[in-house]
Amino acid sequence: MRGFKYRIYPKENQILKLEEMFCAKRYVWNYFLELNMKRFEKKFGILTYTEMSKLLTQLKQEHSWLYQCEKSVLQNVLKDLSKAYTTFFNGPMTYSVKTIKHAKNKGLELTFYHLQNHPKFKSYKNPHQSMVMNLTNNNIEVIEKKAEYTSKGQFKKQNCRIKLPKVKGIKIAYSRRYEGRILNATLSKEADGKYYVSLCCTDILEKHVKSTDKAIGIDLGITVFATISDGQTVANPKHYSKNIKKLKKLQSEMSRREKGSKNREKSRIKLSKHHKKIQNSRNNFLHELTTKLSRQNDVICIEDLKAKEMLKTNRLAMSISDASYNTFKLLLTYKMSSSKKQLIIVDQYYPSSQICSNCDVQNKQVKDLSVRTWVCPKCGIKHNRDYNASKNILKEGLKQIA
Ligand SMILES: [Zn+2]
Repeated sequence: MRGFKYRIYPKENQILKLEEMFCAKRYVWNYFLELNMKRFEKKFGILTYTEMSKLLTQLKQEHSWLYQCEKSVLQNVLKDLSKAYTTFFNGPMTYSVKTIKHAKNKGLELTFYHLQNHPKFKSYKNPHQSMVMNLTNNNIEVIEKKAEYTSKGQFKKQNCRIKLPKVKGIKIAYSRRYEGRILNATLSKEADGKYYVSLCCTDILEKHVKSTDKAIGIDLGITVFATISDGQTVANPKHYSKNIKKLKKLQSEMSRREKGSKNREKSRIKLSKHHKKIQNSRNNFLHELTTKLSRQNDVICIEDLKAKEMLKTNRLAMSISDASYNTFKLLLTYKMSSSKKQLIIVDQYYPSSQICSNCDVQNKQVKDLSVRTWVCPKCGIKHNRDYNASKNILKEGLKQIA
């Protein structure tokens, strides 16, 4: 993970929105800190993140202005508070020498609040303010404009903007491009009154990718995600089938509920959250896989989507594998080309499963999807359907660049 920090130049109305969010963040932190301190005094346990998160929903209903703040900012505050308490409880639970001296001089009475590492109230007077916004559905995006040149042909600084949740189009000094994929953005106001955004990115490609001289063919499937011509297989993520079961359950739950009812709305939200969860875990899986594959190989051959095979399975699994396939292809295209390597797409009508990778004879009986292993009628070699296909995809792909 790496951070890319830029100065931003919000306009007056944008500053108002940012300050409103800083204010909401402080309010939520202080509210829950106070609540936890009261519990601590009464010897009740400190609230967990999940408990605070539930209470936050109530708090928002009482103070609707909190809705003006990006959701993830407030969730991250609760996570921070929860972490701060863990640090506190793991710490020495003593007063620092400085605190004792200060209290003596001022004649203050020391309480548990003054203990080392105890979370402190946040003040609007603090000149340094910051908040963390998570990336969801492209809510954080740098909008680049075409490069402009002066009359003498010199490069003029780009006039770029950044889109952030609740505040769109803030001018940004985008001096160098961020790399990889954005996880979150930390927006800060420093002591000098200037605003900055730091993009925390992952999946950053290495600049000097070593050549490996390796070429592979990949057969993509539904039960096994990928079968590779070098003998490796990539299974679907473990939770995949479990998640699909849950998705089905939530879908039928929703359809049973009366249209327009409150319960149906609740079901709909639950369902869409679960969809999002599946999507996120799929994307992480695909990112990791494509990074690994593009590092290890110089040439990768894949087949275009096999529509016929997809129809055989149920619609839900199909829509998800459809999306996975497209993302996989997109990520691989981008990662291979940016490391100056080759991705070759073999035509979807090429019968990769039916050809014997040993003697090239075509065996039409293999068309039937239930045939997982077969023996070549000509040369007698025994084939695993997917492995044989991946070898053919590699052969056919290499032909295209020969
Ligand atoms: Zn053969």
